[in-house]
Amino acid sequence: MKPAPAVPILLVLAVGWGGLSCADIAAPSRSQVYEWRMITSSGPGTTDTLNFHWPRSRLPVRIWAEDRLDLPAHVQNGIQQWRSAFLYGEFDAVRVPDSNAADVIVTSQVALKAGFRGTRLAAGAAPECEGGTDFVLPPGSRQIQLPIRVFVSPRFDPALPGVAECLALTTTHELGHAIGIFAHSPFDTDIMYSDPTVSALSARDRATAERAYHLDPNLTASAR
Ligand SMILES: [Zn+2]
Repeated sequence: MKPAPAVPILLVLAVGWGGLSCADIAAPSRSQVYEWRMITSSGPGTTDTLNFHWPRSRLPVRIWAEDRLDLPAHVQNGIQQWRSAFLYGEFDAVRVPDSNAADVIVTSQVALKAGFRGTRLAAGAAPECEGGTDFVLPPGSRQIQLPIRVFVSPRFDPALPGVAECLALTTTHELGHAIGIFAHSPFDTDIMYSDPTVSALSARDRATAERAYHLDPNLTASAR
């Protein structure tokens, strides 16, 4: 699966900044972010820029992980990595035991159900595995219909070298989409690169996540 073309960083620099008091804390330069929003066509010659982050009132985000391929451990690692990107608890998540009560569902299944109006955020990952994130945004709607569905799956025997590492970093990458990073980084040193090979968030991933959480979202999430 190949990602959409990278969006020029200039677009990011043109974004208004909310002036939040905590905005100056981040150590990385403000220019060290990539475009994370989803830019969609909204008609001939016009585009719409969609951005989302979990509001504080919905934290911690509830994530359910299938008990297979060490997915619970990979999800826990991913939660920890994204949580640590923030200095003031702007994002938090927990694993929950019941998928019916989850905002985000992580499984090793690839197939989409018939009639599922999913928007696939493509993910490549290393050759040993693959992943993707689907969410339902009905046409014309500004409300994501939960749950967001994440899948990660091995391409080869999961016992082969490299597969577990691939599943781990791909899970972290897909959770990045689920927290609101809807686009791919153009830099291969970032976890949100389309074909990620690094196992941890870069400074640029963290700065981008923080930027995303300090911009008012124009999408909401449904009740669950
Ligand atoms: Zn991706």
